Amino acid sequence: MKYTIPKRIEQMTPYQPITGEYKIRMDANESYINLSKEQIDLVENKLNQLEYNRYPDPYAKDLCKAFAEYYGIDKNLVTAGNGSDEIISLIFSTFFEKSDIVGVFSNDFSMYRVYCETYGVNYKIIPKEKDLTIDVEKTIKFIEDENITALIFSNPCNPTSMGLEKEKVKYLLENTQALVILDEAYMDFWNESLLDEVEKYDNLIILKTCSKAIGLASIRLGFFISNERFTKVIRAIKSPYNVNSVTQAYGEVLLSNKEQLDNATKEIILNKNDLQEKMFLLKDKFSNLILEVYKSDTNFVFIRTDYAKEIFESLLSRSIAIRYMGDYLRISISNKIENQKLYDEMIDILTSISERGK
Ligand SMILES: *Cc1c(COP(=O)(O)O)cnc(C)c1O
Repeated sequence: MKYTIPKRIEQMTPYQPITGEYKIRMDANESYINLSKEQIDLVENKLNQLEYNRYPDPYAKDLCKAFAEYYGIDKNLVTAGNGSDEIISLIFSTFFEKSDIVGVFSNDFSMYRVYCETYGVNYKIIPKEKDLTIDVEKTIKFIEDENITALIFSNPCNPTSMGLEKEKVKYLLENTQALVILDEAYMDFWNESLLDEVEKYDNLIILKTCSKAIGLASIRLGFFISNERFTKVIRAIKSPYNVNSVTQAYGEVLLSNKEQLDNATKEIILNKNDLQEKMFLLKDKFSNLILEVYKSDTNFVFIRTDYAKEIFESLLSRSIAIRYMGDYLRISISNKIENQKLYDEMIDILTSISERGK
């Protein structure tokens, strides 16, 4: 019989990143801080001793130990992946049966839905409140009413930038039988992590990434942290050499350098606070154009405006890339100079929109 591509995947389109050269990149939530000369020298030492002809350590033991020490958790609960994207993909491709239903919030990381569709996993959209927050009681009820067996969400949330407090996440975990996959990609910028309590729960998986606060988006490194039972499963289903030796070396060396990482995170948070203040100023000044600025617990700000497309395109024409999402704009934090530049350009764009309106 002739092969036909499943409809489900034939209709999919390849991921389209922003293309073109832009002077200022505030679109992908990466860290704006590149490695220092000292960090690169440290890694180089390690790389010089690498046996490039040999396969990597399948369990990335030294790397997972460095990660566990950085976050003060048990290394036996940590498994590394080729970016948390690989881990999300692995979970969706193997953890669910036909009868499972995954709950995904209306406003959340788009890859969750993409992987549900890729692997033919049933999913239901869980609504958020009008102000884009999560009502835990309603969520618990929705999970029950809709027979949802697993829930995945980002906390703090990409794209809304808002976090759900630890106590509320715990309440959710304790009042549902569903598996909860908690994506803490941005938790380094907030302080409500459940990492050090992961072992207490029989229904919790936490995901972490080195692509945001750690500043290593290029090397593709993420982590799966869970109890012994789920850890055994992920280790059994992952491909043995999923994290290459070069990535392992970078991760191990840089995660061992706590002070430098903590300082970078602090600096990003300060610049976030500053850019957020600037966005509030814009909202005061142009209250009919900027409708909402959400309280950010991440390294980006999220705003609602009816002029999102126009602002996005005007910024692009000025060589500043941000993320356009319907009625919203998502702007990743950069350094002081670039944040100021963005602010100045936005004032200019909003001024011309409001003058045109008169
Ligand atoms: C950026 C991001 C990730 C991606 O992590 P990688 O480790 O780079 O694959 C995962 N989850 C959320 C919510 C993100 O915003």
